[in-house]
Order: sequence, then C-alpha cells, then structure tokens
Amino acid sequence: MMKQYAIIGMGRFGTSVAKTLYEMGYEVLGIDSDEDRVQDAVDFVTHAVTADSTDENVLKALGIRNFDVVVVAIGADIQASILTTLILKEQGVKQIVVKAQNELHGKVLHKIGADKVVYPERDMGVRVAHNLISPNILDYIELSPEYSMVEIVANEKMVGKTLAESDIRRKFGCTVMAIKTGDEINISPMAHDRIKQGDILVVVGKNDNLQELEEQA
Ligand code: ATP
Repeated sequence: MMKQYAIIGMGRFGTSVAKTLYEMGYEVLGIDSDEDRVQDAVDFVTHAVTADSTDENVLKALGIRNFDVVVVAIGADIQASILTTLILKEQGVKQIVVKAQNELHGKVLHKIGADKVVYPERDMGVRVAHNLISPNILDYIELSPEYSMVEIVANEKMVGKTLAESDIRRKFGCTVMAIKTGDEINISPMAHDRIKQGDILVVVGKNDNLQELEEQA
C-alpha cells in the first residue's frame, strides 16, 4: 500500500512538503489550526482539516497513529511544535519529522524522540552563502561536520580536459562522484571521461578543500 503522510502546519515549508508528496501520488493529510491556511491547501492534499495539534484528543480522532510519517511544520510557536511532537510520540507514530527553528529547539526535539529534525532556513542560508562565494556552486550539502558535497558548473579550467587532466583530486583532494550533462548523468566517471562545456560536477571532499575548489571555480 502507498505510504500515507500527515503534515501539521501549512506554512510555506509544510505546504511545499505536502505538495511534493501529493504530486508524487502519495496520500497526504494537511492539518492547520488556521482555517484560511486549510482552505488554501485543499487543492494539493488528499484531505485538509482545521485542527489544533496540541490537543491530543483531536489527533487521536484523526487516527494520526495510522500514518506512516508525520511531519511537524509548525514554525514560530516552538511550544506548540514541542507539545505536538510529544503527543505524536505518545500516540506511537512510527516516524516523526520536525522542522526546528534553531539548534536548541532541535536538541529538545531529538530528546523527546523526533526521528528526524530538519533546519530548512539554516540549510538554505548555507547554500545561498556558498552560491554567493561562487555563482558556479549550484548546491551544497553537508555530509558531516567535516565533509560536504557540492554541485559545481565546470569552469574554463576544466572544460575540454579529462578528469585526470583536470587534476581535481591531486590539486584539491576532492573526488568527482558524477558528471551531469543536461539530463544525463555519468555516475562514478572514469579518469579518461572528458568534461564538456555546461557540465555539472558532483564533488565530495573535506570542507577546506572544497572551499579552495569553490574559490577558483
Ligand atoms: P513557514 O516558514 O513554513 O511559512 P513559519 O516559520 O512562518 O513557517 P508558522 O507560520 O509559525 O511558521 O507556522 C506554520 C503553520 O503552522 C501556520 O500555518 C500555523 O497556523 C500552523 N500552526 C501553528 N500552531 C499550530 C497548532 N497548534 N496546530 C496546528 N497548526 C498550527
């Protein structure tokens, strides 16, 4: 059976999560305490209900424990976010994903049993900053505090060269994991594969080394 998702909080983030899941064909229940937000959501969720998620009887009545994943996308009201997560945990929801406002909020969420805590504003800020350093950096994902992955548009120093000739590994200590050419992607490319104009390289490495690569990109 197709997985069922419930999204609590239909702000910009919750809406985006709900819409994406719904467009992929999943069943999505959207919940918000604000009637207008619920009205706005009806077109891109399977069901939309007006409810206060800090009321445990309401969540029980909605059968929240039967959903495979529940996403708590409440922003400003940290207390409501924590209380909601606690209730979901108590009701035995299998997977709880919560949006955190800051590190402290995130820590509390982990402590009370959130399975995954996400920081969309912080992560997007990091991405934008890297894109500002070099507009050729399309995306930036932190893998650990020390290592990251970047998507970088091939620059004139790389175009026309093979991976070996580009010398990225020796010069920067980074590994090219994939080369994207339009819609095609070459996973784990060979040393003799040639980098073309407009190619996008997916590179993994230590943050310091990636920074050097970014600054010359
Ligand atoms: P975004 O950046 O995603 O727009 P935000 O950080 O501005 O979100 P809020 O607008 O504070 O977050 O919250 C997101 C949604 O959560 C709002 O639509 C709000 O009505 C809803 N919400 C807040 N508290 C509750 C609650 N107790 N029960 C249900 N929904 C709630």
